Amino acid sequence: MNFVEVIGRKRDGFELTSEEIRQFVGGAGSGQLPDEQLAAMLMAICIRGASSRETQELVEAMRDSGACWRLGEPYPEAVDKHSTGGVGDSVSLVFAPLVAACGVPVVMMAGAGLGHTQGTLDKLRAIPGFATCAGRSAALERLAACGVAIAAQSEEIAPADRRLYLLRDVTGTVPSLPLIVASIMSKKLAVGARRLALDVKCGSGAFCKTPEAARELAEALIDVGARAGLGVRALITDMSQPLGDRLGTANEVRAALDVLGGRGDARLRQLTVELAVEALALAGRSPDAARAELVRRLADGSALLRWDSVVRAHGGDPAESALARPTSEVPVPAARGGFVTAIDGEALGWLAVALGAGRQRKSDSVDPGAGVEVRVRVGEAVEAGQPLATLEVGTRSVSVDPLALRAALAFRIGDAPPPPSPLVLARLGGSA
Ligand code: URA
Repeated sequence: MNFVEVIGRKRDGFELTSEEIRQFVGGAGSGQLPDEQLAAMLMAICIRGASSRETQELVEAMRDSGACWRLGEPYPEAVDKHSTGGVGDSVSLVFAPLVAACGVPVVMMAGAGLGHTQGTLDKLRAIPGFATCAGRSAALERLAACGVAIAAQSEEIAPADRRLYLLRDVTGTVPSLPLIVASIMSKKLAVGARRLALDVKCGSGAFCKTPEAARELAEALIDVGARAGLGVRALITDMSQPLGDRLGTANEVRAALDVLGGRGDARLRQLTVELAVEALALAGRSPDAARAELVRRLADGSALLRWDSVVRAHGGDPAESALARPTSEVPVPAARGGFVTAIDGEALGWLAVALGAGRQRKSDSVDPGAGVEVRVRVGEAVEAGQPLATLEVGTRSVSVDPLALRAALAFRIGDAPPPPSPLVLARLGGSA
């Protein structure tokens, strides 16, 4: 069928046939369908949704659009980790060396930034020389060398997700349950770890704004994993304010280095440990013993040492001094005193994108020196004029004053602190 007719069927609310799904995904992976038709179909799915059959078939077609590496065969204990997308979320950068330092191999299929969130892949690209595994044998070599293999969608593996991901990033088609499930699970199944720890974000900085939407997404991800025989555990976690205090790419690598060095942002450290507990539990460890070991590995320097070997094994320079720095900084002062009652993570994420830490067009490059530092937390007391955030300008020329005005609006200040909210809202899923 002419693909314009297929787009029209989804636009009008019809369920796509298996053949139509294969036409869409095949055309994305092979390059035979043009960007404008793919983007139109993505928007139609975003608005109309997809049935669970369509979602499952999207996952399978996207997995099969390239090679399947089956890294879980030589490394059955290996674990993968993924987040549904958050702000100030550099958990993956800490998680991989930390879990490997505990003796569990990590196979990670990372993604670039999506919408207002900064992706692990863009953060890794801020490390001079860092290269993801180009093929299965490179992944096996790196697993043998340092216990971690980091891969990304390419012409070889998950090519359909590679193309659709780039288009979703710049067409407002990220917040769609079937598209998120298909994107995450297709590349996880293609790389082939048998265990998966998921961080499903919920709140103003997440694609799922409510606990109900986050639970629905977590259950759909677990269901697809279970059908493929994967052990999946998911945490639903708070994204009603940025997770860590730094947004951007080089910036978030620095935030991860602080946590790996036994210091750093307390929420970022806590969530990384909780997700790593889930990963070690999938590998058969008891949660209490796992938590104690993880805390020790952060304190005794072994996680940081492992980071160095992971970065070197991937061709990168692990020195913090090699990371880009901002060329100028603009503080965002509080208009009044009081207590911080809310921080709009999505608004801050879009500001980081506007400064150059993400893409507004497919062809954009990411500026590693650009970012935002969040200088207060929800519940904290502030005085009028106190900096709430700092906008960090990289090498791109940006008109920063309007951005500073927008940044101030991302912070709500009231007369009393709100009740504290937990970081981990729910735990779902089970063992392999
Ligand atoms: N991460 C992905 O890989 N894809 C999404 O759609 C969202 C988060």
